[in-house]
Amino acid sequence: MQKLTAVVTGGAGFLGSHLCDRLLKENFRVVCLDNLITGNLDNVAHLFGKDDFSFIKHDVTNFIHIPGNVDYILHFASPASPIDYLQLPIQTLKVGSLGTHKALGLAKEKKARFLIASTSEVYGDPALHPQKEDYWGNVNPIGPRGVYDEAKRFAEALTMAYNRYHGVETRIVRIFNTYGPRMRLNDGRALPAFVGQALRGEDLTVFGDGSQTRSFCYVSDLIEGIFKLLMSSETGPVNIGNPDEITIKEFAEEVIKLTGSKSKIIYKDLPVDDPKVRQPDITRAVEILGWQPKVNRTEGLKLTIDFFKDRV
Ligand code: UDP
Repeated sequence: MQKLTAVVTGGAGFLGSHLCDRLLKENFRVVCLDNLITGNLDNVAHLFGKDDFSFIKHDVTNFIHIPGNVDYILHFASPASPIDYLQLPIQTLKVGSLGTHKALGLAKEKKARFLIASTSEVYGDPALHPQKEDYWGNVNPIGPRGVYDEAKRFAEALTMAYNRYHGVETRIVRIFNTYGPRMRLNDGRALPAFVGQALRGEDLTVFGDGSQTRSFCYVSDLIEGIFKLLMSSETGPVNIGNPDEITIKEFAEEVIKLTGSKSKIIYKDLPVDDPKVRQPDITRAVEILGWQPKVNRTEGLKLTIDFFKDRV
């Protein structure tokens, strides 16, 4: 019998590469697309040579041609850390808009199920806490983060339009802060920044007074939630993240403790429009998918620190 084929855009990125691994384990044929501007072939190097895996270097803002059957498309291509999308603002807007259009066009042509990687950033600096999927968000369209937030909001709108107008089967996952092996040490996010600094014995740079909160999900939990959503019949957006919320200052202290570092914390300016709080309400994921995170932060941080130890 012919194997089911999944196309993963951004497949050489942090999340995309973990998805490729998971889909191969589920016995899919996997086509990984990436233009490698923030993705890295090291993330999928272990998959080269496998019969069911192929890699195509491609910028998905251009027409996507995949020969043969395609059953699932997971659209994960995008710069995704604040530093990346500040440095690549036009590419970020293009991949969220033109790239989503091309990926949805492929889904329509192939009659494939389409899953878009959306984000907690669609809620902006939220006035509702924790964030539920029916909250419409508080985004500054012209601020520096607007390039990512609005691209993802547009991507959700386009996804729903293809669902309603063209009948494409679609899924929307709103991904909250996720961490784990294969993050880039220099992607500017709090976790790799803090772990890198702690392991090098440098001061940890907390932005603002560190009272802003985030809720960090370990990558294996996130991938499980995404796979369950892909296999479900749910068209509405679903938050996937770990609701265990912590201030950024406390998070920096945890990293210092777990690395056994002598580093201190120093304070830097808070970036413009930095959300003050963030915590997913995962009621929908629990009820619809029977999913909830299993890996606690101490466990997840230890695994991630081990990964970074060899790379600093
Ligand atoms: N942050 C920090 N120091 C750093 C990097 C980030 O204090 O070196 C803060 C950042 O201002 C934000 C939080 O940590 O409040 C999480 O930032 P990250 O870049 O990881 O992702 P975000 O959740 O803002 O998308």
